[in-house]
Amino acid sequence: MMVTTHAAAALLLFGAPASLLAPQFAAPALAGALLGGIAPDVDLFVGTHRKTLHFPVYASLAGVAAAVVAALVPSALTVAAATFLLGAGLHAASDWFGASDELRPWERTSSRAVYLHPAKRWLAPRHVVRYDGAPEDFLLTLAFSLPVAYLFDGPVRVVVGIGLLVAATYTLFRRRVPDVFGI
Ligand SMILES: [Zn+2]
Repeated sequence: MMVTTHAAAALLLFGAPASLLAPQFAAPALAGALLGGIAPDVDLFVGTHRKTLHFPVYASLAGVAAAVVAALVPSALTVAAATFLLGAGLHAASDWFGASDELRPWERTSSRAVYLHPAKRWLAPRHVVRYDGAPEDFLLTLAFSLPVAYLFDGPVRVVVGIGLLVAATYTLFRRRVPDVFGI
């Protein structure tokens, strides 16, 4: 799935509820969720993609623990840590339902969707979303983004709008990306 889908999902599922529950921590809750939704894909550039920074189990468990801590000791830091880890865990787990890590994922030559660290093996892609940047992936970004844009104004709405533009552009050109870069 596109990073915009992960980011919008984390904002809607974790950032928004946390900021509605504790409005005084809305900014750290939303920032944590946004960064958590994005962070795992930094391993596109360092280490092994879908493995080095993708922790479907560990980040999710840490996120639940951090949410308990944030409920008991609410602060900007604990709330941001909770939404960050929950967003990162959801990102990694939902990559299982997309395609593999290959450059042309619609060719389905790889069976590596995301690495399951506790089992020391790769999970095979489920292809519920056929590949990142598929039309259904854009619809997911849209479906997660619209409620967030409705609930929040100001910078959050701007960020969501930029995400939608990026997602739409990527979706339009996704299948040409490997050829453009000659890879
Ligand atoms: Zn990912």
